[in-house]
Amino acid sequence: MPGTKELKKTLLSALDEGVLSHAVLIEGEKGTGRKALALWLAKAILCRDKNHPCGNCSVCRKIESGNHPDVEIFGESGGARSFHIESIREIKNSLWLAPNESEQKIYILLNAENMTPEAQNALLKSLEEPPAHARFILTCDNRRSLLDTIISRSTVYTLEPPTREECAAALREKYPDFSERDAEIFSIAYGGNFGAADSGAAEGKAEIVFLAAKAPDLLRKGTGYSLAAELSAKCRTRADLSEFLERFLNITGRCGIDRAAGKTTPVRVTPSEAVKTADIIERGKLALLQNCSLELIESWLCMELSGVFGGNL
Ligand SMILES: [Zn+2]
Repeated sequence: MPGTKELKKTLLSALDEGVLSHAVLIEGEKGTGRKALALWLAKAILCRDKNHPCGNCSVCRKIESGNHPDVEIFGESGGARSFHIESIREIKNSLWLAPNESEQKIYILLNAENMTPEAQNALLKSLEEPPAHARFILTCDNRRSLLDTIISRSTVYTLEPPTREECAAALREKYPDFSERDAEIFSIAYGGNFGAADSGAAEGKAEIVFLAAKAPDLLRKGTGYSLAAELSAKCRTRADLSEFLERFLNITGRCGIDRAAGKTTPVRVTPSEAVKTADIIERGKLALLQNCSLELIESWLCMELSGVFGGNL
């Protein structure tokens, strides 16, 4: 995962100097690799290799696969307020028991923003005075979504989102079929969020993303009809069209801004085209929410966009 290199260095040196807090809070927006970093830190703490975390020993492998008896993970799934006090009671029941096979035990509390206030309050004492063998690693989207008392008992590390270039490089590594331009387009289409771009690629959204990148040129050539044909072939559900609109908005928006700043962009979009496109996309999204037929929205979209990009439909 890109964007975490510096943070890993910081955490590792705190750990090696023996000053890593017993309660670490990793803050970062969705898709920045919070869970991966929490698991990495758990490995760094428990792995006995001199280059810890080595990633290969049985400790590291057990943690990676979720099978280490001294690493417990909570809050993995569920939405707002789904992280209840029962989970904290479960932690308290085992907190003072000695670790099973390592010298320490680690409680990973993911998506702490989903904790109810009761759960957060119940956790306070354990965070403040844990037994020497216990450590907590919490993750959250934004520290402001947690009680001040939780923050003050933790050391907060902020995970910065990767740059667009880092995101593109990581995509190429994971998807060797992607050309440099493909990876750049994908990265722009998902706002540089590697987690989101990775899911998009894994869930087969590439056709839709690349259609969004191709659309301005199709329209400019006066071939709005061929965009309409491709849209109806590739966006067969409302979710598909919604995906197209989101990616198209990101691509035109970003390329328009970059072009205004004199940068080269993988897709040719002028700033004024970007502004007009954003307005049409917003209206398209509204139409999607209402009961309009998919065909109707798609042909309306092509007509409006043809007006922006100078093609004739
Ligand atoms: Zn290891």
